[in-house]
Amino acid sequence: MQDLQFKNSDIPLSSDPQPKHLLALTETELYAWLSEHGQPAYRGPQILSWIYQRRAESFDDMSNLPKSLREELARDFRIWSATIAARQSADDGTEKLLLDLADRGRIECVLLRDGLRRSICVSSQVGCAMGCVFCASGLDGVDRNLTSGEILEQMLRLQRMLAADERLSHIVMMGMGEPLANLPNVIAALEVAKNPGGLGISPRRITISTVGLPPAIDRLSRHQTPFNLAISLHAPNDELRTRLVPVNKNIGIDEILAAADRYFDTTGRRLTFEYVLLAELNDSASCARQLVKLLRDRSSMLNVIPYNPVAGLPYETPSQVSIRTFRKILTDGGINVQFRERKGDRIQAACGQLRRLRIPFQQ
Ligand code: SAH
Repeated sequence: MQDLQFKNSDIPLSSDPQPKHLLALTETELYAWLSEHGQPAYRGPQILSWIYQRRAESFDDMSNLPKSLREELARDFRIWSATIAARQSADDGTEKLLLDLADRGRIECVLLRDGLRRSICVSSQVGCAMGCVFCASGLDGVDRNLTSGEILEQMLRLQRMLAADERLSHIVMMGMGEPLANLPNVIAALEVAKNPGGLGISPRRITISTVGLPPAIDRLSRHQTPFNLAISLHAPNDELRTRLVPVNKNIGIDEILAAADRYFDTTGRRLTFEYVLLAELNDSASCARQLVKLLRDRSSMLNVIPYNPVAGLPYETPSQVSIRTFRKILTDGGINVQFRERKGDRIQAACGQLRRLRIPFQQ
C-alpha cells in the first residue's frame, strides 16, 4: 500500500488535464456532474437535447443554459474528441467523413441518401482483424476498438451534415471493423441512438453487421434491445468461405447459421445475409444453388453486393450476365434477395472501401 502511494505520487499531475469526451459519459454520470456543480436536474435533458436533437457544435450554442454553466461544461468536457480531416461528397448524395481520432488513429463513416432515407454507415474499430480478402478495412489489421463516444461521434458528425429538414433514419454498423468484436461499446452507443432522448431511431432501423462470431451473436441475443442482425456470409460452403473469410476456419457456416437461428428465435427479427459477389470466385450457378439450400427454410433476406473494387486487390465485379443468372437461381429457389445498389463508389465510400488511411487523404 505504502509502495503504491509512493508510486502514485510520482506520476506528474498535469495542471491542464484533457477535458473528458462528453459523448462517452453515461446519463447517470452527467446527472452526477450536474448535482456536484449545484445544477438542477432539468439541465440534463436540456444539454442532451442540444447534443442529439438540436445539433449544437459547441457549449456556446446552448443558448438556454446560463453562461457560467456553459463555461464550466467547457472546462470539464469536450463535445468532440475527433477532428474532421476530410469530407467528400458524391453526386448520388453520398457523403464520407474521414475523422482523425485523439490518438491520431483514422476512421471513416458515410451518409447515404435514398429517397427519404438518411442512412449512416458507422465504424466500430480502427482497422479490422477479420482479414476478409476482398475488403479494404482489414488491409493493415486492427489498431483498437472505438469507444462508445467515438461511435456516437460519427453519428452526430454525419447528422450535422444534414439539411435542417433532413433526419437520420437508419444506422448500419457496416463501416470499418467487426462490431461484435467490440460489442459493449457498440451496444452502449446504439442504446443512445435508440433512446428517444438520444437520436430516437427505432431499433428496427438499426442493423449490426457481423462476419459471424457465434458466442457474440448469442450475447447480442440476450441484450434487451432487438437490433437487426446482418451476417456476412459470402460463400455457401466452408472450403470457399475460409478462402474468402479466413476467420471462418475455426468457426464454420453451420455454427454461424445455428447462432443466427437462435438470434431469430429470441428476437423475432428477420435475419439478413450479405454476399459480396466476386467474379469467378463465388458467382457460379453451383454457388447460387447451394445458397438456396442453405437459406430457403430461413426467414431471411439475402443482400447481394456486387464487389466494389479496392485498389491493389485482384478481384473483379462479375459481369451483368452472371449477376442476372445468379439472381435468377436465387429467386427461382424462393429466396428473398436484394441486389445492393452501388452507392458512393466514386468517393471510395461503398461497402468494403473504407480504410484506415494512414496516407494523406486524396480527392
Ligand atoms: N465486419 C462486419 C462489418 C463490416 S460490414 C462484417 O463483416 O459484416 C461491410 C460489408 O461490406 C460486409 O458485408 C463486407 O463483407 C462487405 N464488403 C467488404 N468488402 C467489400 C467490397 N470490396 N465490395 C463489396 N462489399 C464489400
